[in-house]
Amino acid sequence: KGSDGKYTVTLIEGDGIGPEIAQSVKDIYSAANVPIKWEPVDVTPTLKDGKTVIPDEAIDSVTRNYVALKGPLATPVGKGHVSLNLTLRRTFNLFANVRPCKSIAGYKTPYDNVNTVLIRENTEGEYSGIEHVVVDGVVQSIKLITREASERVLRFAFQYAQDVGKPKVRVVHKATIMKMSDGLFLNLARDIAKEYPNVEFDAEMLDNTCLKMVTDPLPYNDKVLVMPNLYGDILSDLCAGLIGGLGLTPSGNIGDECSIFEAVHGSAPDIAGKGLANPTALLLSSIMMLQHMGLTQHASNIEQAIFATLAEGKALTGDLGGKAKTHEYAAAIISKLNA
Ligand code: NAD
Repeated sequence: KGSDGKYTVTLIEGDGIGPEIAQSVKDIYSAANVPIKWEPVDVTPTLKDGKTVIPDEAIDSVTRNYVALKGPLATPVGKGHVSLNLTLRRTFNLFANVRPCKSIAGYKTPYDNVNTVLIRENTEGEYSGIEHVVVDGVVQSIKLITREASERVLRFAFQYAQDVGKPKVRVVHKATIMKMSDGLFLNLARDIAKEYPNVEFDAEMLDNTCLKMVTDPLPYNDKVLVMPNLYGDILSDLCAGLIGGLGLTPSGNIGDECSIFEAVHGSAPDIAGKGLANPTALLLSSIMMLQHMGLTQHASNIEQAIFATLAEGKALTGDLGGKAKTHEYAAAIISKLNA
């Protein structure tokens, strides 16, 4: 927090529709008098010794501010560098990915009142990137599970459950088959559960979770689900589908020091630059960011304005079946802010 009473937050506008949806966030925040000063940074990667690196100024900015809001980054296919999103996660050791999915009044899906939270281990597991050819036609891919990374994300999940008033943590696993790797994750969860006597704990097999969630998601509303990387990647998109797709879902990548909040969707090159983009996912990610920063009143004010605008349905963007431009949707939200 600076001497002017404002918090500086790093803003990675991103590619494609990124700058357009970031503009909506900036406009709404200034109308809502949120005490935040944006520090825009460019994360266009550079190659250093054959490795993809993020420019030092961007790293310094996130390190200094602890918090960043990030738009989508286009990952060029077939170019020499790994995904920038992965690079950001590794650079800042963002070990937990938090994905809430809450039904949006005014946007009808097969289920009303969905309100799930999924926490995914973000650094290892099936996505450790350790693969090699054993002999021609035989490839080995290593799923790495460590006590350190598992404990870190599990403890975060229990703490999160306690903080947000969802009093149950459920581990999703396949320890029946992956006895050692998922077994370690599950056993650590049992141990850590003892540190949180106010939070109920249980476990469920991934296949069973998928079946039950699409049959009736409501019993998951009072729980925080936590799981290894790959399961979380897939199950979080399944949850997004329950509320209307990736265009509406926020996320937070949490580390010990820094956290980066981002929309789940991509840079939408097909509609970029036309004023058609829906900024809701980035806005909801910024709400998670405000809650993380303890600016809960500002978070509630903007959140109610977003939901009221969507429920009213008069100023929706094209992806939600409306005709409004990005800035018209943002203006409708601004008109619904509490004074
Ligand atoms: P995408 O999410 O960009 O687009 C899929 C479809 O959804 C498109 O028709 C698009 O117009 C629409 N859409 C997405 N977001 C929207 C929004 N906010 N408002 C209205 N419509 C929206 O997925 P893609 O086309 O597979 O990927 C495009 C680029 O984005 C790729 O370079 C990819 O690597 C990148 N990407 C980045 C991230 C990230 O930074 N987190 C995530 C996914 C994809």
